[in-house]
Amino acid sequence: MKIHVLTLFPEMLKEFFQSSMIGRAVQKGILSLHAVDVRGYSLDKHKKVDDYPYGGGAGMLMQAQPVFDAWKDVTGGGRVRTVYVTPQGIPFTQRMAEELAKEEELVFLCGHYEGIDQRVLEETVTDYVSIGDYVLTGGELPAMVMIDAVGRLIPGVLGNDSSAEEESFYNDLLEYPQYSRPEIWHDKKVPDVLLSGDHRKISQWRLEQSRRRTAQIRPDLYAKYERRQELIGRLMKDKRNYIHMIESLRRGRAEILFWEGDDILLYDRRCVTCMISASCREAGRRMLDLIPGETRSVVASQAFLNELFCGSGHSGADGSGGGEVPEAARICSQFEIHSECSQLLYTQKTPLPVQHKDIRLLTMDQLDYVSERYSYDGRSYVEARIREGVMYGAFVEGEQVGFIGMHSEGSLGLLYVEEAYRRHGIARSLEAYMINRTLEKGWTPYGHVMVGNEGSFALQEKMGLYRSDRTVWWLERK
Ligand code: SAM
Repeated sequence: MKIHVLTLFPEMLKEFFQSSMIGRAVQKGILSLHAVDVRGYSLDKHKKVDDYPYGGGAGMLMQAQPVFDAWKDVTGGGRVRTVYVTPQGIPFTQRMAEELAKEEELVFLCGHYEGIDQRVLEETVTDYVSIGDYVLTGGELPAMVMIDAVGRLIPGVLGNDSSAEEESFYNDLLEYPQYSRPEIWHDKKVPDVLLSGDHRKISQWRLEQSRRRTAQIRPDLYAKYERRQELIGRLMKDKRNYIHMIESLRRGRAEILFWEGDDILLYDRRCVTCMISASCREAGRRMLDLIPGETRSVVASQAFLNELFCGSGHSGADGSGGGEVPEAARICSQFEIHSECSQLLYTQKTPLPVQHKDIRLLTMDQLDYVSERYSYDGRSYVEARIREGVMYGAFVEGEQVGFIGMHSEGSLGLLYVEEAYRRHGIARSLEAYMINRTLEKGWTPYGHVMVGNEGSFALQEKMGLYRSDRTVWWLERK
């Protein structure tokens, strides 16, 4: 990821760019960070960048021209996501960090003095974001805060790929208390359960502590957590048909954008995907205007939703446009049907035997191999999967002969085995291996198989996965 910071004080960022995790990510080439000196773009002979505000008032304002020229120089005037850090923005959250971490390039614009001329903000800024309800002298600290939170979520930056999954705000809970050596300090003993070696009990204890802590310190967050649990409980009554929603909620990925009875709209910001289920056409139509504009994919649970998303659904019965709000009218007819799938899920808790022994986590060294053989979603998709640490390969005498992975929304897939090695049990081993990895995280493994792919259904069913009785439709932005 490339990040440019437009600032009057580039020296404030230098140390930060070189230190700790962020510094290491820069060294590894995962992150590239540039502090751009806005003053260098001033056309004034004294390099002045500020002036008095029209209409009077305290302080000075950063002028439009140097800010615009600096921005244009780094973006080429193109559509690069540009964040103005400002106390007037929406509050920065972990979810927003996750969403920004998906971008390939970002610009942070730091204000100073009393802020920046409104006209240049209108021409450059895509997001107005605040780090809290207080006023700082400049935008450099807020930009560093956001870069730090975003940077550590980029696959490959944190050493341990699951550490971000257990932290505060994951799943709307604060993190549980943690202890390190020595076992007794100031007469305080580490809780016995943490020394027991019983991982199931440890997980239960941690969850309970997280819940208690969140209810006490952040009742607002805890209310969100409870609502999520309530929805999971309801969906569990029809688990096989709603496993995609259940797992997305459980894994702390989906936000509930709407839920009333059987009408549900979820949004996974990390993979910019919505999941929708509607009791009737009218309810589906009402939810359309809640779909975030940047949504790339929609998983629809009922066939009539396809029509709403892919075109003709924006007309009312009289063909008049149905009276939707403009956002809804904009959303529909921007999607097309990509595939109709059945969901398959593995509900047992016991790991499966893995016959083929040489299965390993893939690295960038295998990117060419995988992307040449997996053509559905493009090279950058495969690259992101490898970076996220969710792709595994099967090897025979050191040569790669197949692979499997987890899709961006959490389903198992991307399975491939070389022609010459098919019917040798390698696909089965890869699948079992992936199922076991998923079980270790306490998740229910599931996959989406395109209707008609009988070979894949047969393999999955032989392994103990069972099939949904209804299908879902994957809709992709045109
Ligand atoms: N006059 C501005 C107002 O009332 O909104 C405040 C300007 S502040 C002194 C100068 C700059 O610091 C802002 O333009 C912004 O870039 C940055 N800044 C200050 N507080 C911030 C916060 N809480 N979150 C993000 N940026 C902030």
